[in-house]
Order: sequence, then C-alpha cells, then structure tokens
Amino acid sequence: MCGIIGIIGQERAIDRIYPGLLALQHRGQDAAGAVTFENGFQLKKGNGLVLSVFNPKNIERLNGNTGIGHVRYPTVGAGSAEDAQPFIITAPYGIALAHNGNLVNFFDLKKDLIENQLRYLNSNCDAEVMLNLLSVELSRMNLKKLSAEKLFAAVRAMYRKMIGSYAVVSLLAGKGLLAFRDKHGIKPLIMGKNSTSYCFASESVALDLLGYKEMRDVQPGEAIFIDTENNFYTEQIQKGNKAACIFEYVYFARPDSIIDGLGVYEARLRLGEELGKECLKQNLKPDVVMPVPDTARGAAQLVAEVLGVKHREGLIKNRYIYRTFIMPTQAERIEAVRLKLNPIKPEIKGKDVLLVDDSIVRGNTSREIISLIRSVGARRVYYALYSPPLRFPCVYGIDMQTRGEFIARDKTIGEIRKSIDADALVYQTVNGLVKGVGAGAKSFCTACFTGAYPSKVPPLLMEHIEADRMLAKDLDS
Ligand code: SF4
Repeated sequence: MCGIIGIIGQERAIDRIYPGLLALQHRGQDAAGAVTFENGFQLKKGNGLVLSVFNPKNIERLNGNTGIGHVRYPTVGAGSAEDAQPFIITAPYGIALAHNGNLVNFFDLKKDLIENQLRYLNSNCDAEVMLNLLSVELSRMNLKKLSAEKLFAAVRAMYRKMIGSYAVVSLLAGKGLLAFRDKHGIKPLIMGKNSTSYCFASESVALDLLGYKEMRDVQPGEAIFIDTENNFYTEQIQKGNKAACIFEYVYFARPDSIIDGLGVYEARLRLGEELGKECLKQNLKPDVVMPVPDTARGAAQLVAEVLGVKHREGLIKNRYIYRTFIMPTQAERIEAVRLKLNPIKPEIKGKDVLLVDDSIVRGNTSREIISLIRSVGARRVYYALYSPPLRFPCVYGIDMQTRGEFIARDKTIGEIRKSIDADALVYQTVNGLVKGVGAGAKSFCTACFTGAYPSKVPPLLMEHIEADRMLAKDLDS
C-alpha cells in the first residue's frame, strides 16, 4: 500500500503535492518523495514521514507546474532510501514515475531489463522497473515529437509485459503528465480538475483537501495523458474484469474517501450491520460494544444498533504512534499496543464487552488488546471482526503476508479464539463482506480471504513469499 499524487496545470505543483501527501500519509509512513519539473527535475525524497522529509527550504527549490509525489509502504524492495519514490531517468526526454501496487512478475522483468536491455537498476523497487520499461518502449520509437497516440502505444506495450497491480503517475519532462491503472483496477486512482489544473491521487481525500471539484476514477485499464497545454487524452489500454482491492474499504483507506464510487465510511457502516447479524446468530449478548480505534468506529456503532445494546468508546488512541499493522517487527508491534491504546476504565469494569475490530493478521495485537481490557475489570471480552479470516498472501502490494504467520492460515476459529484469549470470536462472512462493501462480488479482489487471485501469480513469487514467511516465523519464535 502506497499513496501517489500527480499535478499538472498553471500553478506551482509542489504547493499542492505537499498537502496532498499529508492527506495520503496513512497509506505509507516509511518514505516520502516528490519531483517537479522546470528546466530540469527537482527531486526530494527520503525515509520517514512527509513532515520530516520536506521542509521550507527543500519545498522552495521544487519549482515547476508539473510534479508527482509518493508516500511509501514497503512492498517489493527492502525499504532502503534507494527504494524511495519517485524514480527518475534521463532518457528519452526525462521521465519520473511513482506507483502504488506490486508487479507479481517483478523478478522476471528486472532480469530481462538487465540481461536483454542492458539497463542498470539501482533499487529493489518495481517502480524503477516500470520506469525502465516505459523508457525502453519510448526509446525504441526514437521520436523527436511525442504524441499522446505514441505514448499510449508505449504504455500498451508495458501492459503486455506487466502482471499484477499498478496505479501510476508519470511526469514526462516538458511534455506532460501520464496516469494509468491496471486492467483490474486493483489499486485506487482518482482524478480531479479545477479551473487551472488536473490532479491524480490515490484517494479522494487528497482532492477534497486541494479543492478539486470535478472528480472521476481512472478506469481499470485506462491511461490518461495531459500535456503542458492542459489538453486531455485518454485511452482504454486493456480490458479486464474489475477486481478492486476490497481491503481498502476494510482498513487501508480513510473513511472520508470515496473509491470507485463507494464511500469508505458508508461501507464500514454496512460491514458493521452485516457483522451485527452474525453476532445475533451466535446469540452474543454483551453489555456494551466498543470499537478498536480508529478504523472500526463506524462498524462498531452499527453492531451495537443491530444488537440493541450501548455503544461506547473504551479505548483511547494516542494519535502520534504509527498504525501497528505497518510497524516492521514483532517486538515493536507488541510495545505499540500499550503505547497507543489506553482503556477508559469506568466504561469497562464489571461489563461483558464486545470489541469490534477490522481484521486479525497475526493475533498478537488482538491478544494484547483483550488482555488490556481484562486488566481493567471486564467480566467477559468478546471479539468481532468485520472482515473474514485472512488466510492467503496478498501479492498486490500489501506486506502483511511476509512479515509472519496469518493466525487463520492453519487454525480453526475456535483455536484462534483460544489463542487471543477471547470469550467469543465472531468473523464476518465473505458474503457479508461483499454485501457490506456494497457492489457485486465480481467487482472486487478478495484474494487474501478466498485465495481467488484476479491475475496470474508466478510460482516463483509464491516461493519468495513462503521463504520470507518461514524466516519471519523463525524470527518471531
Ligand atoms: S489480496 Fe487482499 S489486500 Fe491484496 S489486493 Fe486483494 S483484497 Fe486487497
């Protein structure tokens, strides 16, 4: 999961990219960067939060009316400074590129670029591979004057090679801004327009903040090019079955975002309603329903409504601690629960508490939270998830599978309940998930719950994931 933004128009791009990246910060806190163009590229990127990478001095030098920006959550790539985006290349024209997603055939593409195209790649990031693919295709055309038609032909050639998820913004020096999304639309990408500029961003919150009114999603398989005269070109590069990441609605996206026409907050309310029905089926009778903040707030409210019991806040979050899901090591995660959550004791003491959470990945965080609630006098602690058990690795850019074991991979729900020390455990069903988010089952990728991947997945990638998983398991034990 990463966040991207691209701006082209009549005003200084960085003045929009910087606040836009702040609005997308929840999509990645590992690294941030931006590049603008005016008589050359001006690039600033580095590890850390947007606020720590950028300062008034480096923002001052990022001149130009076209630019792209990125916040990184590490996927392919070791998370070093070399892997921070955007990437730039000098030929042809000068191209910069930033992307959100994961090429599942990254290793094959990188090998081919090195061995057959004689390219030197300086990182382990698939954005650098994509940038080189675009450069190879455009160089092959050897054009002095670049047209949208030729650019789309180059992008079409890239699509034929790339497998996986990608939402991309790319700056062509002195030419314009290119954006495209894979044929399944796995990662979100929305565009907005105002009287002077166009903006592409991973989530609509960035466009809201920047005051863009006319918005639409970049369609799965669509490429858009806006030249420096603000002429707008679009082409459907490839057609495919739409399979947008359903986990965006469960966890990743901000609740105030609208992705592919579906409001994230409303989706979470509906997910809560579906989960409430599951709790009813299991005859759960808590005194109070509480969210595990912040993602589960809306869902918990609806669970309480369906069960007809009180809804209260029971855990207060220190907002200045990273989201635990994104933290890299087990030890850091465990410490982070205590660091970031503090219970409201009078709301919990002597009660049967139903905690509502978005998902369980490894179970350690849930175990810590339940222990915390018990430690302040809860009589019983029930745990309910508004997504189904996570069982299969995400190969499209979500690094939850390689950092350890999914607790649901080889445990029954009863065993998970025991492992996290809950008095009852209720999961959303896959049907409830799809119904709750609110579009047909065929519109979404649900692979981490069902194992049904919308694209081909090379066996080599699965081998890498499995090796990484075993290594993480050894480190955890
Ligand atoms: S596998 Fe899961 S997290 Fe990955 S893209 Fe599909 S739904 Fe999203």
